Amino acid sequence: MKRTPRRHGRRTAWAAAAALCLAAGCGNEPAPVHSEWAAMGTFCSLHLPAGSADELPAAAGVAREVIQQVNDRLTIYDTASELSRVNSSSGERPEQVSDMTRDTLVLACGYAQMTGGAFDPTVGPLVRLWGFSGGRTPQVLPSQAEIDEARRRVGYELISIEGGSAFLSTRGALVDLGGIAKGYAVDLAFDRIVKRHPMGLMVNLGGNIRCGGMARPGKVWQVGVRDPFEPTEILGTLTMTDGMAVATSGHYEKFVTIDGTRYAHIIDPRTGRPVTGMAGVTVVSDRAVEADALSTAFFVLGMRDSLPVLASLPHCGALFVPDVRPVQVYLTAGFAQRFSPAARVVGRVRLLAP
Ligand code: AMP
Ligand code: MG
Repeated sequence: MKRTPRRHGRRTAWAAAAALCLAAGCGNEPAPVHSEWAAMGTFCSLHLPAGSADELPAAAGVAREVIQQVNDRLTIYDTASELSRVNSSSGERPEQVSDMTRDTLVLACGYAQMTGGAFDPTVGPLVRLWGFSGGRTPQVLPSQAEIDEARRRVGYELISIEGGSAFLSTRGALVDLGGIAKGYAVDLAFDRIVKRHPMGLMVNLGGNIRCGGMARPGKVWQVGVRDPFEPTEILGTLTMTDGMAVATSGHYEKFVTIDGTRYAHIIDPRTGRPVTGMAGVTVVSDRAVEADALSTAFFVLGMRDSLPVLASLPHCGALFVPDVRPVQVYLTAGFAQRFSPAARVVGRVRLLAP
């Protein structure tokens, strides 16, 4: 999570910022103010309502600090991080971890259980095998034997947490929290800042967004959902109620090309192979950590198998974009009630039966 930010981070921020302009009216009305910085391999921005310019630096400082703390503990790009210690002690001994690391691991295991292992924080050996999260891009497709070998080191039941220590029971197991850590960091930053700015704030860490209050009096925050096929276009606009979070998992975010075919960075732990067939999944929830974990999980599960999980989470909604052109958009009722499709896709939006 500590890398040079990629362009996709800027694009995601652009999509949100473009929608913000819509929200604020932009015309003669003063726009919200924001501060942006590089964090966790992408970009983070904090937005406060118009007229808050004087308070922005202190609030951004709080967000920066807490997000850095999460990164320092959970990154797998630094061998000295707490998570790297847990990984390198796999099969040998438990490691003492901070509350932040323990909480993230507990949450990750909970979402793994809830999604039948579609979200799996121990997917690290497979992620690396396919050339992501520090793995080397393979010249040829990994063989079935290599996939099977990596899969033997995958499974969220390999994680045990007792008191303040975490242990991976199989040697070579590797926890990768890239699918949940940004959402966790957004919630921590949000919770710290909202006490001082209950009237309005928005935190956006690489498209993991949480909003509180209003963009300006009488105007709620609005967030654009990016078209996975057209980086500069949005599929529509989400109206964000107080405390609401949204996250998107997309096939455009990170990918490798092997033998001329592109493979996306989200791996189906059940097959050991990158997910195909899905271009983007956006989830709304009342917590950024949940939106983050579930957007990754639903990308793996696909529309049909995500619906039973969604049925047990009435506060959540989802938008699915299959990997077919021209773009098609499928929405749950919970998502549709907050979403205004862009004119260019209006005829391509379908409501999913509950
Ligand atoms: P996101 O962009 O939030 O969907 O997270 C994608 C990242 O999560 C990848 O880059 C991997 O680090 C990790 N990941 C990939 N596949 C999975 C999976 N099935 N479950 C949990 N994390 C995953
Ligand atoms: Mg995620």
